[in-house]
Amino acid sequence: MNPEAFREMDRSDPLARLRERFDLPAGTVYLNGHSLGALPLGVSERLERLVQTEWGKDLVAGWNVHDWIGLPKRVGDRIARLLGAAPGQVICADSISVNLFKLLSTALSMQADRRVILSQQDNFPTDLYMAEGLASLLGPDRCRLRSVPAERLLDALDDQIAVLMLTQVNFRDGRLHDIRTITEAAHARGVMVLWDLAHSAGVLPLELDEWQVDMAVGCGYKYLNGGPGAPAFLYLAQRHHDHARQPLSGWMGHAQPFAFDPVYEPAGGVQRYLAGTPGILGMTALDVALDLFEDLDIDQVRERSIALTQAFIDALAALRLEGVSVLTPTDPAQRGSQVSIAHEKSWAISQALIARGVMVDFRAPDVIRFGFSPLYNRFADVGAAIDVLSRVLSDKSYLDPAFARKKKVT
Ligand SMILES: *Cc1c(COP(=O)(O)O)cnc(C)c1O
Repeated sequence: MNPEAFREMDRSDPLARLRERFDLPAGTVYLNGHSLGALPLGVSERLERLVQTEWGKDLVAGWNVHDWIGLPKRVGDRIARLLGAAPGQVICADSISVNLFKLLSTALSMQADRRVILSQQDNFPTDLYMAEGLASLLGPDRCRLRSVPAERLLDALDDQIAVLMLTQVNFRDGRLHDIRTITEAAHARGVMVLWDLAHSAGVLPLELDEWQVDMAVGCGYKYLNGGPGAPAFLYLAQRHHDHARQPLSGWMGHAQPFAFDPVYEPAGGVQRYLAGTPGILGMTALDVALDLFEDLDIDQVRERSIALTQAFIDALAALRLEGVSVLTPTDPAQRGSQVSIAHEKSWAISQALIARGVMVDFRAPDVIRFGFSPLYNRFADVGAAIDVLSRVLSDKSYLDPAFARKKKVT
């Protein structure tokens, strides 16, 4: 497709205007929203006010007068709307890793006669690491991690499995699990489900209540645009609230933190999943970023995400680039909002793309990810990325030794 055709697609799309609500550097084609969302307008001003006026002038009184103490629940309830969850089931706290630990512990304690956490071999590593950590803490009689290839998951659901822990969108190839079907299959065998929505929240329509999901976690800094290291969230279905126990029983999850009672008594509901004092600066940035979703129809967001990724896949197929294979499913119903390709020189190619203003990322061993955030990516970005990729491959500029050097963060 020629550049004008891509521009025309942007002109006729009502969501294309949302890009104006982000502060993106001119000349950069930003395709890393799956890793760190772009900066929404209004965040800087809000943080400036928070620091100068609220913290600077009101000091410790801010916990009450600005209700900082209520922020994890307020932000949690705003996120709940994007998950298809009624209020009171989502709390904003900590990182995904820490939240996984809390929820996996809960699941194991609720399933006292079962001890296995079942997961997928190529799940995001931190998910597996946290399960391993919990298993080594509890010992093999209480907890074991079993991870199998995706195609063996359903067969592996047996009466030893306490909880099935899966990520809806695979971080490497962008392949999508069907939450409803898998949750049903797990429940039929008495298995609880814990879904990681890191690459889902803000970009895929979700119905956690309707699908009877037990637990979920997700990310504040990817498609929700909350900023680097923004706090994560966790969801626990209402029906589990009365029996839920979690081991990180810090004072913020106490029924009355300011009673300073020497004995722990959990707060009601999902509030008990707080451990320590919430980071108000980071959570406030996420709170502002969530304004973008206020009047947004997530089905429309998904439509635009599919159109963007499809345009990229189609343009790529038309080019028939040598040595490039597309890892992401071409069926839109089976993919999230990214397109991953493989090439034996993927690292160097990713660096050459970035040097020419197309920001992508690399995942070992040989994957380049092009993430399309429907809130700010345009069809023009698809055109530009395709154009630069085909030039980098044909002029072999990626062979420049400067592009061979590894970096700490890829
Ligand atoms: C990004 C991501 C994480 C990040 O975990 P943190 O502990 O918040 O750093 C976890 N799981 C998946 C699937 C991810 O994509």
